[in-house]
Amino acid sequence: MHLLVIEDDPKLGPLLRRLLQGDRHVVELAPDGRSGLELALEAPGLEAVILDIGLPDISGLDIARRLRAAKSKLAILMLTARDTVNDRVIGLDAGADDYLVKPFAYEELSARLRALARRAGAAPARSGASLESGPVTLDEHLRKVTVDGHRVELSPREFALLECFLRHPEQVLSRDQLLDQAWPYGVAVTPNAVDTYVHYLRDKLGPAGGQIETVRGVGYRMRAG
Ligand code: CA
Repeated sequence: MHLLVIEDDPKLGPLLRRLLQGDRHVVELAPDGRSGLELALEAPGLEAVILDIGLPDISGLDIARRLRAAKSKLAILMLTARDTVNDRVIGLDAGADDYLVKPFAYEELSARLRALARRAGAAPARSGASLESGPVTLDEHLRKVTVDGHRVELSPREFALLECFLRHPEQVLSRDQLLDQAWPYGVAVTPNAVDTYVHYLRDKLGPAGGQIETVRGVGYRMRAG
């Protein structure tokens, strides 16, 4: 997708751009509301805006209202630090299609974007909705994992980890890559947490957990099933 990130946080903005580019999106980044609004109104072919609600100059809510009035088809995903029902309702009323409460894990953002793309018809129907490797199946819509057809209950972090592995089969993923993608941004965790959760995940997958291999000194890789 062709995306615009409007985010003033000097770390989160560039991090999101890097991760989204890694997922083969075309990404533009605006560090304030004014430049973001201009880019959003003028960039040809723009499909979605990831919009922080708290910006230094123009409020994300105002930007959402103005974009919605000008470009009815543009998907708007709002990022908010406030987790109150009222703020979410205001955000959706202002024209956002969906919202994500900070701190969030990149995998959560990525899944919301795929849902928006499907709704907009920008991607083939159900593309990315279901991931599998051998006996392991992960349904992104239903947040459901099965092994040989039997349901396995995973915690949100285990689910996000498995999603990373399934989306990058045979690829060696470092602990830092896994932390960036499966853990909420800004939450203090050590790389050891990755080892702990991979261990939990392997246990819950049973024999199929053996597909997740340790790559000594680097991280982990999931073999194709
Ligand atoms: Ca902000």
